[in-house]
Amino acid sequence: MKKITCAELGGGCYISLFAGSVEEAAKQGQEHTMQMFKQRDKAHLDAAEKMKTLMSSLRKMDNWMEDRRAYSNNLIAER
Ligand SMILES: [Zn+2]
Repeated sequence: MKKITCAELGGGCYISLFAGSVEEAAKQGQEHTMQMFKQRDKAHLDAAEKMKTLMSSLRKMDNWMEDRRAYSNNLIAER
């Protein structure tokens, strides 16, 4: 298992997520972010604004995903 934080996925806090792959981590991060949205957490709303800018460009988004994948593959914190 790999450990990745919400912030490392572009989120607004440093909660740790455990996943087997970057896709799985992204899914967990999304679920967590949705929960934080329901609580109107400002840090996550701000982070989402930034992500929205990123997602407006497919190329930027692809680069970001590649970046996250490389990052998660290199994580030292294998569990
Ligand atoms: Zn978070």
